[in-house]
Formats: sequence, structure tokens, C-alpha cells
Amino acid sequence: MAAYWRLKGAETFEIRQKSDLERNIDMLALPGGESTVQGKLMKDLGLFEPLKKRIEDGIAVFATCAGLILLAERIEGDDTVWFGSLPVTVKRNAYGRQLGSFKTTGMFDGKPGVPMTFIRAPAITSVSPDVEILSSFNGIPTAVRRRNITALAWHPELAV
Ligand code: GLN
Repeated sequence: MAAYWRLKGAETFEIRQKSDLERNIDMLALPGGESTVQGKLMKDLGLFEPLKKRIEDGIAVFATCAGLILLAERIEGDDTVWFGSLPVTVKRNAYGRQLGSFKTTGMFDGKPGVPMTFIRAPAITSVSPDVEILSSFNGIPTAVRRRNITALAWHPELAV
């Protein structure tokens, strides 16, 4: 995971191989990218099952875009389920050509004016009742929270 995930006061490192999982991990960030590539790489590198277990055991997860897709219980028009830990349905690349990538500002978790960058973003097309919606765009949820998982369809880190 790239350096932009650095949080003030938090030590961060990238998980690139199995031995990285031996380090102390309090929180997991699942970044944007291409979800199919990320999922396949995690499987090939033997990272997928251990990470899935940590997510299921309740580690705090912060996900953006492709990370949200990896967590979703369902992907529209696709039988693939990656972690499947978040009871939402997503539609990949949902904003079409013209709105493929765009910036806006909106309300996030009750805070107005939060900059949001969408890059070939997924739409969250349905959520189970226990999923809290933290932000929406044109009436479509774009960020959600449930238990240990917070997942955004947009990139907060590109606005800083
Ligand atoms: N379009 C990508 C996917 O389907 C997600 C894009 C992103 O992470 N910014 O996996």
C-alpha cells in the first residue's frame, strides 16, 4: 500500500508478502487499484486467506474503491466474491464514460464539504439494513460502515 496511507502518529507499512503478516497489525487499509488484480495477487502470494481471517476476526478495515469491491458480498453481473465480508452489492465502473473520473465535495459521516475523488468507481447498489451509509452521490451510497469495516467508493487521499 502506497505511502499516502500514512496516518499522523501511526506507523504504517505495506503488506507485500506473507512474512509482512508476522508484524503487529492493528488496522488494515485496502487501497484503490484494480480489484481483480489485487484479489488474484493476494491469492497467488498466500495473503488472501490470512487477511480474510483477520477481517472476519474484527480487525479495523479502511477500504477505498477497489478495496470496497474486494469486501463486497456481491458484485453485480459477476459470480466472483473476494472477502465477501461486507453485506453490500456493488457495481464496478458504475459511472460510465463521462463521469468515469470526477471530483466533488459532499457530506461524509455528518461532516460537510469533504472532497471526494472518484476514479472508475463502483456504485453501492444495495446495502443490508445494518450497514450505515456515510456518504451518497446523486442518491447512491458512496461510503458505508458496518462493525469493523469502513469502505468508500471514492479516494479521500487524492484530495490532500
Ligand atoms: N475500477 C476498479 C475496479 O473495478 C476500481 C477503481 C479504483 O480503485 N479507483 O476494480
